[in-house]
Amino acid sequence: MEKINQVKVYMNGIVYTVNRKLGEWWKQPEQAFATDGNIIVFVGSNDGVKRFVTENAEVIDLRGAVVLPGIHDVHVHPLEARSPVEGTVALPADTDPERMVSIIRKQSSKQIGTTWIMGHGYSLYNMLQHIKKGKRPPKAILDEALGDIPGIMMEETSHSVWVNSKALELAGITKDTPNIPGGIIMKDPKTREPNGILLENAGNSIVDFALRPTAEIEQLDYEGLVSSLGYLSENGITSICDARVYWQRNHHRAWLRAESEGKLTVRAVLGLWAYPHLDDDYQIPELQKMFSHNPDRRLRLSQIKLYSDGLLESTTAAVLGQYKKRYNFETLEDNTGMNYFTQERLECYLRKLQHLDNGGGFDFHIHTIGDRAVRESLNAIEKAKPDQNPERPSRHRLTHVEMVSPDDIRRFRDLDVTADFQVSGDFTLPKHRADNEDLISKVKARETVPVRSVWETGARVTLSSDWDVSQLNPFRGIMHAAQRGHQAVSVHTAVEMYTINAAYVMRQEDRVGSLEVGKEADFIVIDQDIFNIPVADIVKTKVLLTAVEGRSSYRSKRF
Ligand SMILES: [Zn+2]
Repeated sequence: MEKINQVKVYMNGIVYTVNRKLGEWWKQPEQAFATDGNIIVFVGSNDGVKRFVTENAEVIDLRGAVVLPGIHDVHVHPLEARSPVEGTVALPADTDPERMVSIIRKQSSKQIGTTWIMGHGYSLYNMLQHIKKGKRPPKAILDEALGDIPGIMMEETSHSVWVNSKALELAGITKDTPNIPGGIIMKDPKTREPNGILLENAGNSIVDFALRPTAEIEQLDYEGLVSSLGYLSENGITSICDARVYWQRNHHRAWLRAESEGKLTVRAVLGLWAYPHLDDDYQIPELQKMFSHNPDRRLRLSQIKLYSDGLLESTTAAVLGQYKKRYNFETLEDNTGMNYFTQERLECYLRKLQHLDNGGGFDFHIHTIGDRAVRESLNAIEKAKPDQNPERPSRHRLTHVEMVSPDDIRRFRDLDVTADFQVSGDFTLPKHRADNEDLISKVKARETVPVRSVWETGARVTLSSDWDVSQLNPFRGIMHAAQRGHQAVSVHTAVEMYTINAAYVMRQEDRVGSLEVGKEADFIVIDQDIFNIPVADIVKTKVLLTAVEGRSSYRSKRF
């Protein structure tokens, strides 16, 4: 056990404070800092820190290593990423679905916690190509692999699922079942039979059905979460927002248990999932009851996660123009994508949840990919703004933000809405912009993920990973942020987005996010100076030490 309330002196380092009050902080690193328990008591020179070197102090020689504030990842899925119930079968995205039978068969024996076989990783794009070629329906492939055992394979981005006939039967989904809000049951155009692909919320609903909480599932979810927490610390992450907490499956209880058992090694704000298909009269009061925001606690249940729309590649993202391509989704009548939440319903949720009677209020974390979704969400926030608590203004944000109409770029700043981008995945790099050209116009495809355009208006921008949809490594995100052609930002700007800006989103910028006297000691030590090396090398950065409230949550053998 580390002793607390002990002075620690860190010296001979390169200490980047991310303290914007100092101006160009990336050009003037300090050498040393000191902590007393969980509080930073000094930041400055090796000479200056010497007055803290007393008999009771521990002195740590950084030997030229680099110090940064703890990294925040404000869009991440730790429980889902590692809970063994969520998916035993790992499918290769780049493989023809027909060739997955033996993989599924082989791996399905490992399933624990449920009588269903759960898997993940297939590519919706490949699946849609398979369907387009008129081959057997996807459910027949899974039937061959699993027979009468119900199975659900989740797509790599978690926006659709692939199920077999038994799963459809148990969930009561037939050719007569209508679509639910935000969800599409793909059907054969002639026979009207479900083909085994359930898009967006139709997929979420069947997973909820299969994984209704039991003591065993809750235990496995908890173990998965604890495993993820270790991985977050290894990556230098000290604060996170869980971007989708399925409270009907008791996922929030796994977090509460981690906190009460002293296993919570990050500061965490949970984004409680607003289910599109639940009745508002039931859901809104349930969400209101769960709100908690005690700044002295590591865990807070103070954000609402909801989806405005779907994904570009499946033409479910809500766009302003028409898609150039049309898949066989009959509900997408005018071919402009779909909504999980309409603008009107989002506005209603904002009004009822952003300012609660007890003085608290949820900040919203809204999934928006298409330019129509971005516009509608900004509209809803604008309309509901008079109902915000003037004493405690809302800190809403849009996440993904892949397409933004030029008319809406300035509105992030004007409405004080944070734009949260994910650039750690290769698919967001400029070389992949052309991938969307068969769906949306060339001009729009060129302007996807407009990190710089939004940031240049003076709006607050954050970067996050969306792990495990993309890789967690924040240094990969920082590198990619600086490699985006005309939408690139500098490395120091990317670091601010991962630290002090993200701390604001979590309502903790007065405590962490920069290294300043009086703030809490959440910091990391890394093995190279990311501001003074070629950008392409930033991804190789290794974390040597991660500390939260002055105590280490990860220490490399090299340190
Ligand atoms: Zn996500």
